[in-house]
Amino acid sequence: MIRVGITGYGTIGKRVADAVALQPDMTVSGVAKASPDYAAVGALEAGYSLYAVDEAGAEAFRAVGLEVTGDLAALVEASDVVVDATPAGVGAENRRLYERYDTPALFQGGEDASVADVSFNARANYEEAVDAEYVRVVSCNTTGLSRVVAPLEETFGIEKVRATLVRRGGDPSQTTRGPINDIVPSPVSLPSHHGPDVRTVFPDLEIDTVGLTVPTTLMHVHAVNVTLEDVPDSSAAVRDRFADEDRLLLVPEYAGIDGTGQLKDLALDAGRSRGDVWENAIWEASISLSGRDCYFIQAIHQESDVVPENVDAIRAVTGHLGSSESQALTNETLGIGVSQFSGRSGQPLDRQPAD
Ligand code: NAD
Repeated sequence: MIRVGITGYGTIGKRVADAVALQPDMTVSGVAKASPDYAAVGALEAGYSLYAVDEAGAEAFRAVGLEVTGDLAALVEASDVVVDATPAGVGAENRRLYERYDTPALFQGGEDASVADVSFNARANYEEAVDAEYVRVVSCNTTGLSRVVAPLEETFGIEKVRATLVRRGGDPSQTTRGPINDIVPSPVSLPSHHGPDVRTVFPDLEIDTVGLTVPTTLMHVHAVNVTLEDVPDSSAAVRDRFADEDRLLLVPEYAGIDGTGQLKDLALDAGRSRGDVWENAIWEASISLSGRDCYFIQAIHQESDVVPENVDAIRAVTGHLGSSESQALTNETLGIGVSQFSGRSGQPLDRQPAD
């Protein structure tokens, strides 16, 4: 069993902990939090050992009656791998501790790419992370783009990607984020930093991105244009290529899903933990071709698409399973895959209901 410690138990950390707990080859050695709150209570109720970041934090936990197992160093010592899901920049500081205990660590997309040896997406470059000491699981947006770039590059070749990222203002639990009534170019200077981040996974990819931030907490939406090297026979060829990918969910027209609210509703109806949508949700009707230019629109659930990637990265750094075995096991345990993502009727989304 791979013992996995999780540092930072917020949006990403709590989801990674629950996903790790579902794996037959992993166990959660504990979670470290900075301060006592409802999430700390939830961690204990979920059966995870709670570790404090420092002595002051430990005192604060004890003061409200929450049992603390130890400090951050004790968690690292009790773990074979640490998943650092702390706010951007904290992971780079924590790296010194992981080095001291010679413990492999995963960092998240908010960290600078230089924090790790490899920027990781399971579909694109699993092998590069095998036996690496430090791996950065790329951001939600970069994960979403990497999952479509990999199959398109392999099948048709890519001349250039252009993507407009309509980004959520904040996560549902982030009370201080915005905007609440605006559409904000973010950043104003073009192209945005997202393209270079995708190049940490695909160094040779031509890609330009534009970012806008809007008043929603639900999901990001990407409008993507990929100029392909080889012309597919039809848009159906692109659709069929996407349909082969477990972490791409094709949303058929008949499902009547006209926005991210209904995608989240579907996930909740399907009984998914926290209403998570781990896959890229691609509107099938949006997949179009104009010469070598392919267009499509996809929704990315920022809170959860990196979760299966973290699980696979744990297996990569421990050299425990190969790429396809790990992804298949992660998909099976989480319930990822079109046939399991059913609507109210229990009808898998990739099939037209029979007449
Ligand atoms: P979050 O603020 O929801 O959670 C961070 C957690 O870390 C909190 O529980 C906080 O109390 C804890 N913490 C703060 N300082 C700490 C320390 N010194 N030691 C241990 N714990 C500490 O943040 P998040 O949204 O989960 O983001 C975590 C990382 O994941 C960031 O790098 C972020 O960029 C990245 N990421 C976030 C999203 C998203 O949409 N939320 C998506 C993909 C990647």
